[in-house]
Amino acid sequence: MTAAFYPTSWYAASLDENHFWPALDCDVRAHVCVIGGGFTGVSAALRLAEKGFSVVLLEAQRIGWGASGRSGGQMIHGISGQERMEKHWGAGAKGHIRQMAWEGNRIIRWRVSQYGIKCDLQDGWCEAATKPRHMRAMEAQAKIFQAEGTPEDFAMLDQSAMRDKFGTKEYIGGLMNMTDGHLHPLKLVRGEAKAAASLGVRIFEGSKVVRIDKGSPSKVHCAGGTVTADHVIIASGVQHGLEKRKMAGYAYPAASYIMATEPLSADVRERINPDNWAVCDAANVFSYYRYSNDGRLLFGGRCNYSGDKPASVRDILQPRIVKLWPELAGVKISHTWGGKISMSLSHYPLVGRTDDTIWHAYGYSGHGINVSHLVGNLLGDAIAGQMESYDIFAKLPRRRLPVGNMLGRRVVSLRIFWERLKDLL
Ligand SMILES: Cc1cc2nc3c(=O)[nH]c(=O)nc-3n(C[C@H](O)[C@H](O)[C@H](O)COP(=O)(O)OP(=O)(O)OC[C@H]3O[C@@H](n4cnc5c(N)ncnc54)[C@H](O)[C@@H]3O)c2cc1C
Repeated sequence: MTAAFYPTSWYAASLDENHFWPALDCDVRAHVCVIGGGFTGVSAALRLAEKGFSVVLLEAQRIGWGASGRSGGQMIHGISGQERMEKHWGAGAKGHIRQMAWEGNRIIRWRVSQYGIKCDLQDGWCEAATKPRHMRAMEAQAKIFQAEGTPEDFAMLDQSAMRDKFGTKEYIGGLMNMTDGHLHPLKLVRGEAKAAASLGVRIFEGSKVVRIDKGSPSKVHCAGGTVTADHVIIASGVQHGLEKRKMAGYAYPAASYIMATEPLSADVRERINPDNWAVCDAANVFSYYRYSNDGRLLFGGRCNYSGDKPASVRDILQPRIVKLWPELAGVKISHTWGGKISMSLSHYPLVGRTDDTIWHAYGYSGHGINVSHLVGNLLGDAIAGQMESYDIFAKLPRRRLPVGNMLGRRVVSLRIFWERLKDLL
C-alpha cells in the first residue's frame, strides 16, 4: 500500500521536505508497537526510544495526517477537564496536576532545541475576553500564575491595551503569557518523527492496523505484515475502531476548521497583532488565530457540532474575521481545511489500558498539542515502570455512552450547542 499525500492545507503546502516512510511489508519484532503517527504516538515512540526500547510506529496514512498535522498550532498550557481532575484528586495532587499542565510545552521546547526541529516556534499567547465573566476567570487565573510562579512572564490587558494589540474593539480584556505560543504543527510532528527514527524507531506509513491479537506478546496486523510486541500503544485518535468493546463510547468526534488568508501586508499586521502572538477567545465554542511565518492569518474555530463537514468553511469563518476586523472583508483566502477533535465525555483526557500491555490515550477535547506531548511521554514512562503521572489520569472515573458513533456524535453536538448557548448569555 502506498501512503497517500497529505490533505490540502497551508501546512502541507509549506513543508520544506516531504520524506515518505515505507509501508510495512513483512513481520517484525519490537518491545513496543505504537499505532498512530500523530503527536501522541510520535511523542510516546520518541520517549521510549530515548529510554532504549525498540519501537515500531504504524501510521495508516502519513505522519501527522490526523488532527496533529492540521491543528491551529496553538501551544497552550492546561488540560481539558483540569478542574475536575483537581477536584477528584484533592489538594494532595493539585500541585502535581498544575505542573503537568505546563509539561507538554516544556517537552516541545526541549525537543525543538535538542533535535534542531524547525517548526516556526513563536512565543506568546493571549486569551481574549468578550464578557465580564471571562475577565473574572482570567483575573483568578492570573492570581494562580502569580502564586505559583509559572509562567514567569504574564500580564492582564485591559480593553484599550487589547485594542492596541489586536486592532479590534471586540475584546474587553485579556490574559497573555510568553510561555505558551504557536508553531507549525505538521513540521513539528514530522521533525519529532525524524528524531525518533534517528534513535532507531522503525516508522511505517500507509500501514493501517486492522487487528490486534492480544497476548504475551501481542501481534498487530496490517495488510502487508505484522508486528509482534510486548506492549502496544493505541494512539490513533478517536475513530480507529480498535479495541471497540473496551474503548468505544467514551469520546466522540467534533469538527474544527481553519482558513488561511493570502499574506497580509506589513501595514495590516502592524495594526493587527504586531507581536504575532497566538490568540484564542474565551468563549466555550471559541475562535483562534495567529500568523504563519509568511504573514497569512490562520483563523480557525469549531464550525459544526456533529463532526460533519460544513458546506463552506469560508462562509462560516469569514464573518467571524469581519466581525473582528471589518477592514478584512475582502481578504483573499488561500486554503481551508479541517479535522476531527476527540471530545471526551468525561472532559479530561482518556489515558489507560484495556489489558495489561495494551495502552491508549485520546480525548483531549481540542486542547491537544501540549497534552498529547505530556501523555505521550507519560505512556513511555509508564511502560518503563514509572506510574505516578500515568496513574493520575488512568485512575480517574470515566463516563461512557453505550450507543453507536452516529448517536454519540449527536449527543456531543447537543453538549456543544448548549455551551454555545451559554456563550450568548
Ligand atoms: C482543526 C483542528 C485544530 C486544532 N487546533 C489545536 C490547537 O491550536 N491547539 C491545541 O492544543 N490543539 C488543537 N487541536 C487538537 C489537537 O490537534 C489534537 O488534540 C491532537 O493533535 C491529537 O493528537 P493524536 O496524536 O492523539 O491524534 P491524531 O493527530 O489524530 O493522530 C492519530 C493518527 O492515528 C492514525 N490512525 C488512525 N487509525 C489507525 C489505524 N487503524 N492504524 C494506524 N494508524 C491509525 C491516523 O491516521 C492519525 O494520523 C486541533 C484539532 C483540529 C482538528
